[in-house]
This record gives sequence, C-alpha cells and structure tokens, in this order.
Amino acid sequence: MVKICGIGAGYVGGPTMAVIALKCPSIEVAVVDISHSRISAWNSDQLPIYEPGLEEVVKECRGKNLLFSTDVEKHVSEAEIVFLSVNTPTKARGLGAGKAADLTYWESAARMIADVSQSNKIIVEKSTVPVRTAEAIEKILAHNSKGINYQILSNPEFLSEGTAIQDLLNPDRVLIGGKESPEGQKAIQALKDIYAQWVQEDKIITTNLWSAELSKLADNAFLAQRISSINAMSALCEATGAEVSQVSLALSKNTKIGSKFLNASVGFGGSCFQKDILNLVYICEGNGLSEVANYWKQVINVNDYQKNRFVKRVISSMFNTVSGKKIAVLGFAFKKDTSDTRKTPAIDVCKGLLGDEARLSIYDPRVTEDQIQRDLSTNNVEWDHPIHLHPLNPTMVKQVSIVRDAYEATKDAHGICILTEWDEFKTLDYQKIYDDMQKPAFIFDGRNILNVGKLREIGFIVYSIGKPLDS
Ligand code: NAD
Repeated sequence: MVKICGIGAGYVGGPTMAVIALKCPSIEVAVVDISHSRISAWNSDQLPIYEPGLEEVVKECRGKNLLFSTDVEKHVSEAEIVFLSVNTPTKARGLGAGKAADLTYWESAARMIADVSQSNKIIVEKSTVPVRTAEAIEKILAHNSKGINYQILSNPEFLSEGTAIQDLLNPDRVLIGGKESPEGQKAIQALKDIYAQWVQEDKIITTNLWSAELSKLADNAFLAQRISSINAMSALCEATGAEVSQVSLALSKNTKIGSKFLNASVGFGGSCFQKDILNLVYICEGNGLSEVANYWKQVINVNDYQKNRFVKRVISSMFNTVSGKKIAVLGFAFKKDTSDTRKTPAIDVCKGLLGDEARLSIYDPRVTEDQIQRDLSTNNVEWDHPIHLHPLNPTMVKQVSIVRDAYEATKDAHGICILTEWDEFKTLDYQKIYDDMQKPAFIFDGRNILNVGKLREIGFIVYSIGKPLDS
C-alpha cells in the first residue's frame, strides 16, 4: 500500500487527508500533529472542528486507511508523499511583524522531515506560504539530506470553511506547481494520480512552483477585495438612499462579474484573508512595489472601516450610548456552518461595544464558551487597527454572558446584533423576541439575512448594511 502522511491536523489537514483516504482506498493515510489534544479529538466522537459531512467521512475511513497520530516522526519517515498543512500565521514579533508570514511551524516541520527521512520523498505544500517558500524548504532539506531526493510541489488548498467537504469532493480546480525537470514532472504526475481518483482531469492545472504559490495569495486577495468593494458601496448606499442588495443584484447579472462574494456585511473574517493579504503586502514592499502594496492594504483598511462603522452605527442609533444596555450578539463564528472564530468580525464588534460599556449576551450554535472568552480576553491586534482592541479588563469580562439560545440572549435586551448568517437566525420568532425586549427594540443585521419589512411591522427599529435607515 502507498503511504502518505499529512503534517498538521487542522482545518485544512484534517478534512483534506480524510477525503484522500475516502477516495483512495489503496492509500494508507496518516495525519499527524504535535497537538495531543487535537489528535485525541480526531480519534474520538467529538472531532476538533465542525464541518458539515466531515464526521461521516472520518467515521467511514478511520481504522481502515486513515489514522490520526502524534507519532510525527514515524509516519513521516514511512511516507512516500508528505503533505504539509501546518499553520502559517502572521508574524507577531521582529522583522516584518504584523505582515509577514510566520514560518516557524513550517520550518520546524521541514527540519524534522530532513532529520527523519530515510528514503526519497515528495513534499507537498498545502499550507498557504509566501511565494518562493519551496526554495527555502529545498535549502533546509538539501543541507540535511543523506543522499535523499526530495521533490517539492506546491498544491495550495482552496477549500472554504463551512463547505470544506463539498469543496474537496467537487473542487473547481486542483492546482499543482512543480519543477520542469523530469523528476519534477514525475512528482507532479504522482500527485495528479491521487487527485485523478475523483477529480476530472481538465480541472487539474499544473504550473511552475512560484505561480502556484502566488496563485493562492492572489486568490484570497481577489475574494477579499470583492467583499471590501461591495462593503465600500454599502457605505455609499446608506449615504445616498441606494440599496446595496439591489446594486449587488445588478452587478451579479453582469456575466463578467458574476454573483459570488457580493454580499455586503459587517466585514470578512477567518484565519486566511487578512493574513494572506498582509503577507502579499509584505512581499510587494520587499520587492519595492509600494503602490501595489498600498492597493492591497486598502482591502483590509475598508474591512476595518466596515467593522468600525457598524459599531458606531449601533452606538449612535441607541441614543449615542450603550453603557449599561444589554445587547444580544447572535453569532460569533466568522461565517455559518463552522465553529471557527479566528479573526471573526464578532471579536472587533464585541470589543467596540464593550468599550462603550455595553453588557453583552452572546449566543452561537457552534462556538464554545471557552473560545469566546479566549477571543475577547486576548490582545490580537496585528495591524494598526482603527478600532482600538484592548485585552478586556476583568470588569469588562463580567459584562459578557454566553448563553445557550437566541431567546435567552435577547430577553430584556435593548438591541440585537446579528454577526453570523446562521440559518436558524432567519426563522426565530421575532414577535416573541420583540415582546420580551426593552423598548424601543433595535436590530442591527450585520449579515443582511432578515426581512426588514416584517421586523419593522413588528415594531423593531432596524439597521441593515447598505439599506436606507429607519426615519
Ligand atoms: P490550523 O491551525 O487549524 O492547523 C495547523 C495544525 O498544524 C495545528 O493543529 C498545529 O498543531 C499543527 N502543527 C504545527 N506545527 C507542526 C509540526 N511541526 N508538526 C506537526 N503538526 C504541526 O491551521 P489551518 O486552518 O488548517 O491552516 C493550515 C494552513 O492552510 C495555513 O497555511 C492556512 O493559511 C492554509 N489554508 C487554510 C484554509 C482554511 O480555510 N482554514 C484554507 C486554505 C488554506
């Protein structure tokens, strides 16, 4: 049996390797991680991440050709192909802090591969890395090699959290970058043979290494740019009486533009968009391309502006203060169908409201109390942020309660902020919620998922992104 090993059992490594195991029964897939708690969760009934369909895939393959282990060295040394899916966050300190990718985890994994390898290997970059990282890994491997031949491939992952399994089973495209040498082409073919088990051949694109690495950064930058573009329009809509949903509809019918990523919102979140754009900015600056860097920086600036604008709107609508007022926060994950809160706009919005001394009652169907407390207690500023995010002082933490359902969150509240587009928020009994709230009762729909007309009929004062305000 061919053996492959995935290093990093996170949001990418776990689902990606599980789908390979599902589609390639003749391959033995080991997923390894240095985090004991993550691996024991992968081996339990409570998987460490929530993704629709993931549990079924893991249950189908675990114990057959899929295993999760902390014995990183053993499984790496035995594998013919090693997928690297470790985290590459934004560097917190030192040169390039706040922008450059932190390749500490990446480098330590590469050094470990060099130390434990006894046979030739294909190393597949799955993590999102700065362009030309393959060159760096090659240097580490060459320096330590014992006559072992390593072929490096770039195979960036394009899954979206919340639809990871669907995206992996039916990808738009699979991108594989490699060298033009015969060995490089052989390695590309070996990886293509794996994907060919379930992906149509014309969806598998091959490029050189640097194009594949840069394409992933470009992909996230373009997606985030669309969100910032429509969010920038939403501010103009509010100022002029246009409606952003109507503008989106008009744009979406232009086949040159299309309909995806055109929903105005409180802002984008997630672990990738901001960090990858910052990384792009850093790479541009390092190459003397300051105008190009400034262009991409603006995508993040608009996102920060949008979150800030939302906080200001809540406070100004509620008679210029939320001090002592109870605000129900519905949704904390950065998008629906995931439990991930990394860089969720909810963090910034909650901190902004707490800064004006609001009392928050937070409900999210998938996010745990521990996650919310951790997110609100740490200082995760990575950028010269217009909203000043402080770690919360103990008094502020007392102003937050995390509750188990939307009705409990909204009872006696003065206002509601919808911060994640969970489907269940669309079908709540808003009449009952209104009856149980303080009056006037405000709703701030940061995801534009609610029926504004119906809410106004009930009696709510409603703010939706990019729509005319209540008079
Ligand atoms: P994650 O933090 O969820 O998972 C990374 C895992 O790697 C962690 O469990 C960590 O313990 C493990 N790890 C770190 N160093 C290790 C080592 N030396 N040996 C073994 N395990 C090690 O991160 P993620 O969200 O899965 O992202 C991983 C990479 O994929 C990042 O580069 C990210 O930018 C990229 N990516 C993420 C997404 C996404 O939606 N989350 C999508 C596409 C690409």
